[in-house]
Amino acid sequence: MSTMSPKDMKITYTSSQADLSAFHRFFDEALDALEGELDREYPLYIGGEAITVDAPKLADTSPIDGRVLGRFQLATKGHVDQAVAAANAAKKGWAGTPWSERVTLLRRAADLIRERKFHIAALMAWEVGKNRLEAMGDVEESADLIDYYCDSMDAHSGYIQEMKALTPIEHNLDVLRPYGVFACIAPFNFPAALLTGMSAAALVAGNTLVMKPAQDTPWTGLEIYKAYVDAGVPGGAVNFVTGKGSVIGDHLTLHPGVDGVVFTGSKEVGMRIFHQMSTRWIKPCLLELGGKNPTIVMPSADVEAAAEGAMRSAWGLQNQKCSATSRVYVHKDVAAEFTRLLIEKTKAIAIGNPVREGVYFGPVINAAAVKKYDAAVAGARELGTVLYGGGRLTEGDLAKGNYVSPCIAKVPHDSWVMQEEHFVPFLGIVEVDSLDEALTLANDVEYGLTAGFFSGEEAEIARFFDEIEAGTVYVNKRTGATTGAWPGSQPFTGWKGSGGSGKGGCGPYYVAQFMREQSRTRIVR
Ligand code: NAP
Ligand code: MG
Repeated sequence: MSTMSPKDMKITYTSSQADLSAFHRFFDEALDALEGELDREYPLYIGGEAITVDAPKLADTSPIDGRVLGRFQLATKGHVDQAVAAANAAKKGWAGTPWSERVTLLRRAADLIRERKFHIAALMAWEVGKNRLEAMGDVEESADLIDYYCDSMDAHSGYIQEMKALTPIEHNLDVLRPYGVFACIAPFNFPAALLTGMSAAALVAGNTLVMKPAQDTPWTGLEIYKAYVDAGVPGGAVNFVTGKGSVIGDHLTLHPGVDGVVFTGSKEVGMRIFHQMSTRWIKPCLLELGGKNPTIVMPSADVEAAAEGAMRSAWGLQNQKCSATSRVYVHKDVAAEFTRLLIEKTKAIAIGNPVREGVYFGPVINAAAVKKYDAAVAGARELGTVLYGGGRLTEGDLAKGNYVSPCIAKVPHDSWVMQEEHFVPFLGIVEVDSLDEALTLANDVEYGLTAGFFSGEEAEIARFFDEIEAGTVYVNKRTGATTGAWPGSQPFTGWKGSGGSGKGGCGPYYVAQFMREQSRTRIVR
């Protein structure tokens, strides 16, 4: 039996399945412990105080079988006002805390997340419908994101830099300073890593926060909040608000007491925030948005690797990753073989309750996602040909959850089905005649997040890197054609409609975006 502690066992999105017996044992224990924690009520946390709202609650239900995991508060605009006020009250103290102390506190939060990782991954698996390895990858990434952003502060000595003296009597210093209060709004699909990445960067830079997790994933969000305050981050520096984005989102992002917004989610909501936000002056608005990510397969490719990579990136987390492969452009010479292998591999995936050992593919997040799936499939039937899947899955226990089968279809590139992000397990395939055509079509969407390429030719690979319009790109990656980015290894940057900052999370330029520059010149004699 392994003597490894739960904390020391590390899983990433590309971990091999070699010996996972200890992992599954720890995961089973965490799932058992969770049974006793279901259906509790959780408060908002504003200025360190627990606040309950005298109104109906937000039921946090599992997409796996509809069970109620917990009951969360539906914050009102008044609570948003309170949270923004608390964040403002805390901002001088937190910004004035030496950066190295902030780093120490945040590294402690990363440690707490690692200590609690089986608990967090288990509840996230139920809350999102993620499989075990995906859920653990999300938690591990969260802790690594905190450390990576702390490393950025260390590497730049808190972004304090001596500058050249223009005259002998002056001393010039350049400092990056926090903006103040950030609204931090996260999507459901990586409810730990994305909330943590955005909030950790804002906090380590010295900003205070109002954090809002997606309404589908408040429990995972609460665990991240707890890690911060248990590590010693002051309650006012990080405020935790649950509720509906449609009710409180605009009020939060447009709040005069908010100095900046960091948001990850759909293009639709992101563009809305961007258009509305800056009125009296320009405020930072850091947006990471959706994707419609292509994988290109050339005749010189290892076609089996391409099919495996596309399969993993299309069906991991049921295609509900911003980085998921949702379009394939395959050269006509290898199209038949690629498609046959892709369907064969898709047939082989284990579908079911993803908290169970060995299950790969679970439900989609909610009823709205099932509707989107139905619409994409109907569109494919009308405009093209469905090659595999396309229906709801209702056998046995699956009937209790939001289960649909992975769908592969041939659909014309210029149809809405191939242009819009559906965020459900739907993969469209288009045959192409050349690399020119593949690159042109791959780039011909509003999005530009990730892209994958399979080829055995150096010249083609060089052209792909130079000409593809996307921020995170991969060549010949069998473990995931377009997915699997990790802090410090693959910065995650959306181009075009996929993001606004041009400097993504997981990368070396991220933290600096949460600060503004101040040039300090002082005459010394
Ligand atoms: P979403 O519907 O855009 O929601 C994201 C967050 O915004 C949620 O917390 C939501 O709250 C909130 N919100 C809704 N309306 C708002 C408003 N008017 N003002 C402010 N906030 C508002 O996205 P999702 O369905 O949770 O997540 C999937 C999307 O995120 C996909 O498009 C995916 O590609 C994208 N994504 C991008 C990245 C990236 O790094 N580029 C990573 C992951 C996901 P409620 O939940 O209460 O509605
Ligand atoms: Mg739910």
